[in-house]
Amino acid sequence: MLTLSNNSEVTVMADQFSPWLAWIDSQYQEMLDTTISLANINSDSLNAAGVNRVGEMLAEYCQQTLEVPVAPVELAPLKQVLDNGEQQQLPLGKALRLSLRPQAPLRIFFCAHLDTVFAIDHPFQHCRWLDEETLNGPGVTDLKGGILVMIKALQAFERTPWSDQIGWEILFNPDEEIGSPGSSELITQAAQGCQLGMIYEPCFPDGNFAGARKGSGNFTVVVHGRAAHAGREHHLGRNAIRAMSDFVGALDDLNGRRPGLTVNPGFIQGGGAVNSVPDLCLCRFNVRLKQTGDDQWFQQQLDRLLADLNQRDGIQAELHGRFSRQPKIISSSNQRLLELAIDCGKQLGMKLDYLPTGGCCDGNNLSDLGVPNIDTLGVQGGAIHSSEEFLKVSSLTERAKLSALLLMRLANEPDLKWL
Ligand SMILES: [Zn+2]
Repeated sequence: MLTLSNNSEVTVMADQFSPWLAWIDSQYQEMLDTTISLANINSDSLNAAGVNRVGEMLAEYCQQTLEVPVAPVELAPLKQVLDNGEQQQLPLGKALRLSLRPQAPLRIFFCAHLDTVFAIDHPFQHCRWLDEETLNGPGVTDLKGGILVMIKALQAFERTPWSDQIGWEILFNPDEEIGSPGSSELITQAAQGCQLGMIYEPCFPDGNFAGARKGSGNFTVVVHGRAAHAGREHHLGRNAIRAMSDFVGALDDLNGRRPGLTVNPGFIQGGGAVNSVPDLCLCRFNVRLKQTGDDQWFQQQLDRLLADLNQRDGIQAELHGRFSRQPKIISSSNQRLLELAIDCGKQLGMKLDYLPTGGCCDGNNLSDLGVPNIDTLGVQGGAIHSSEEFLKVSSLTERAKLSALLLMRLANEPDLKWL
C-alpha cells in the first residue's frame, strides 16, 4: 500500500529531485516553439498527409531529444458510410512507436495523439497570442502541448540516476479524435507487458485529472425503402423516412433505461423531391455507457429494433459502427496511481484532484486491458475542439515537472506491489 509523505519528507524529496526538475525550466522556449510549429500544421484525423507531416517533424525531434529510433507504422484505412448510404475507405496517417529498456523492472506505456478535430478547410489553422500567458491555436492544448510535456518529462528522467528502473513504450497515434479505429490494436500491442499507462490528454482547465470515463460507440443505420410517384402510385412506395422516424423514436426511448447510458441521434438525412416516396434515409447516433456490460444490453436492444424494421414489407435496415471504447472504471490500483500523482502535484505546489467525465479517450482502451493509467497528464488550457482553444503556456513546464516527478517517485518506490 502506498503511504503518502509527511511534510518533512516532502522537503527532502523535493531537494533530492530538484536538479532534474530545474532542468525542465531551461527547456521552456524549446517546448513552446515546438508546440507552435506542430500546431501550425493541419492534422485533422482525415488529413493523412498533414498527420504524416506532424509525424515526420516529431520523429526527428524525438530522435534528437530521446535518442531512440522511431518506427512509423501504417494503419488500415478507415471505413466510412457516406450520407448517401454508400461506403468508402479513407487513408489514415501513420502511427509512431518508440521503445527503450523492455527488460526494466517497471514498464510504462506513454501515449499521445497526432491528430486534431479541425478540418483542412476550417478557418482555425494558426496560433496567435491572446495575452503573454495565453496561446490560442488548433490543438495547442488537445494535445500538441502535451506531446512536449511527455518528451521533456522523459528527457529529464533519462538524465537521473534512476532511469534504469523504468522502461518505456511510446505510441503516437493518428486517429484518437475519431475513436482510434485504426490504432486501437496498436495500443493493445504496445501496452502489452506495461504495468502503467501515462497519456497526455489535456487536464481539466483547473489542472485536475480525469478519473472515471464513460464508454462510447458511434453507429450509422441506413434504411432502404421503395421509391414511387407520390401522386400516381403512392401505395407502391415504402417510405424510408417513416421507417427511420419510428426507429429513431424507439432508439431515443432507450435513454433512462440504464444508469448513465445515453443515446444521441445526432444526424439524419433522407429523401429528396416531395413528390417521390423516399427510398433512403440515414441516421448517425452516439451512445455513452457508464457500466461495464451495458454495451451488450444496448446491442440487444438495437438488434431488436432493427429486426422490427426488417420485418416491414419493402424495408431493409442495415447497421454500421461499434463501441470503440468501454467505460473507464477506476480500479483500486488506478486510484493509488492517481493519489501518487496528486501527491507529486502537492510537492510542486499544485492542488490537484480527479473527477469523473462523460468524455472518453485512449485511457478507456488501457483500462479495458487492465492497465492502470492517468490519461490527463497534458497541459492546462481550455475551449478544446473550438476556435477558442487556448493553452496556458506556463503549464508546459509545470506539467512536465509533474510527470518527471511522478517517474522519479515511481523509480524510487522500493515496492511496486501496490500496483
Ligand atoms: Zn485529445
